[in-house]
Amino acid sequence: MVEVDHQFYQVKSDGIAYPVSDDMKAPFAEVTYFAADQTIEVSDALDCAGLQKFLDGKLPSINVPYAIKITGVFAQLQTRSVPKQTKPYPPLAQVVKTQSTFDFTNVSGVMVGFRLPTYMSGVGAAGYHVHFLTDDRKAGGHVLSCKVQKVTVEIDTTGELNMVLPSDAAFYKVDLSTSSPKAGE
Ligand SMILES: [Zn+2]
Repeated sequence: MVEVDHQFYQVKSDGIAYPVSDDMKAPFAEVTYFAADQTIEVSDALDCAGLQKFLDGKLPSINVPYAIKITGVFAQLQTRSVPKQTKPYPPLAQVVKTQSTFDFTNVSGVMVGFRLPTYMSGVGAAGYHVHFLTDDRKAGGHVLSCKVQKVTVEIDTTGELNMVLPSDAAFYKVDLSTSSPKAGE
C-alpha cells in the first residue's frame, strides 16, 4: 500500500500501482497528515543506507517518530511486492520468500514512509520503512534498495501517535506472542 496526496494505491505482484477505492480494507496501515518541518536537498550518490545515516544526523532526536517524503530522481531503485494471501494467513516473514522484485533506473518519483524509534518495534518496523511510487503513479512498491541522484527530503516530526486496533474475533484470538514486525510490508 502507498498513499500520496490522499490517493491510495495497491502495488500488486506485477509491479503495477492500482488506485484503490475508498471502501477497500487493509490489514495494516501507517498514515499521517504530512506537514514538513525540515526540507533537505540531497544530490550525493548515496545508497539508501547512506541516505538514512545522513538523515539520522539531521534529525533533532531519534527518539520520536518521523514521517518522511523523498521526491526526485533515483539512479537506481529496487522495490518489492508480495502476492495476495489466503486464510490461514502466514506470517509476513514467510510471505516475503515469494515476493516479486522490480528494478528501476533513472526513475523519477516519490518515496513515503516513516522512521520509527527502536522502542516502537512491534507496533511498526523500527528504523526507516518507505514505499515508492513513480511520478506517473503507475508503478512502485516497498523499497528494498536505492541510489540517490537528486532528491528533496521532507521530514515531519510526529510527536503524537493514534493506534486503532481491530475488534474482530480473528484478531482477538490470533497468537501474536512470537510475531516479528521486522519484515514490515
Ligand atoms: Zn513496506
